[in-house]
Amino acid sequence: MADVKKIAVIAGDGIGPEVVAEAIKAMKKTEEVFGYGFEFEHGLFGGIAIDEKGTPLPEDTLAMCKRSDAVLLGAVGGPKWDNNSKELRPETGLLGIRKALGLFSNIRPANVFDCLKEASTLKPEVLEGTDLIVVRELTGGIYFGEKFRREGENGQEAVDTCVYNVNEIERIVRQAFEIARTRSKRLASVDKANVLETSRLWRETVIRIATDYPDVELEHVLVDNCAMQLLRRPASFDVIVTENMFGDILSDEAAMLTGSIGMLSSASLGEGAFGLYEPVHGSAPDIAGQGIANPIATILSVALMFRLTFGYHDAAEAIERAVKEVLDAGHRTGDIAVDKSKAIGTTAMGDLIVNAIRK
Ligand code: NAD
Repeated sequence: MADVKKIAVIAGDGIGPEVVAEAIKAMKKTEEVFGYGFEFEHGLFGGIAIDEKGTPLPEDTLAMCKRSDAVLLGAVGGPKWDNNSKELRPETGLLGIRKALGLFSNIRPANVFDCLKEASTLKPEVLEGTDLIVVRELTGGIYFGEKFRREGENGQEAVDTCVYNVNEIERIVRQAFEIARTRSKRLASVDKANVLETSRLWRETVIRIATDYPDVELEHVLVDNCAMQLLRRPASFDVIVTENMFGDILSDEAAMLTGSIGMLSSASLGEGAFGLYEPVHGSAPDIAGQGIANPIATILSVALMFRLTFGYHDAAEAIERAVKEVLDAGHRTGDIAVDKSKAIGTTAMGDLIVNAIRK
């Protein structure tokens, strides 16, 4: 057996525990099939942690994450905590955990399953072959720059400053080049270098770092153009790297190419191999406790963990293949079913995928 990897599991609220249970089943199956070893430790996080411990991110949960090799997160939040003060909101725990774990990039794959092409609002022929990843910077840019109001000549003014230093740019760009190397070796760096000084520093840095990655084909795309090209020729992109606000917008746009939120995985990474893996969707309070949530986003987040943190490409491929096989056979949860009366539940979908994982 390979060395045992420590997985911190924070299932969270709503459908979080339901979908995480299926992802753990998939991990256990890869132990059997590929001989990998995982040790799971569970911690409270989000609304449930507010109820039981009086804080969304308890110290012992954070300590558990810090001693783990990777974190598997379900989802947090729900109407019960929506009117809480800021420090007692589940979402505050999300920001806190990313900061405390030094996570500076968010990785979101968007790949279109052939059998679900109809679920997208784009024409199937435009989507054909779409399989891309958006790498978004998480810690800098206009979200974190100085913000203030002042009296100007024409009344009140509001100012948001966008700041990036060269180290922040360099670390994420290197990460994106590394990811591109594990895929089809194409990287699109997205900026607004015709207008913004931060983008000019971004582009200079990308050009300098590119000399270390001569095997990766690099293109620079202006953000407005990228927004258009994602709709016109999504299949031509492989890895897209960009700053915080552009990434926020483009990753949501790319996500919608696939047509269903229940299918989208994500990772947040820092220095080294450690990462936090979670579905893009939230806690879906409207369907929580009914056993009908789609577990595929969380199961695919495990495949992402295998690729990006552990380098277990064989097991990652086996999970992705199993998902495709089950979908191709026509099995659907309610969110992706055309005929809702034939939809299957969370556990049934999880079982089908687990049974399809093989070498
Ligand atoms: P949501 O993603 O939870 O749900 C949006 C819609 O998609 C709902 O109709 C839901 O039923 C459906 N949906 C989502 N995931 C699904 C799945 N796996 N299977 C089937 N259907 C699915 O977004 P929301 O309703 O805006 O937010 C609900 C709560 O989740 C809020 O408290 C929000 O703050 C929180 N949230 C948390 C995260 C996170 O934990 N990272 C992310 C987004 C939202």
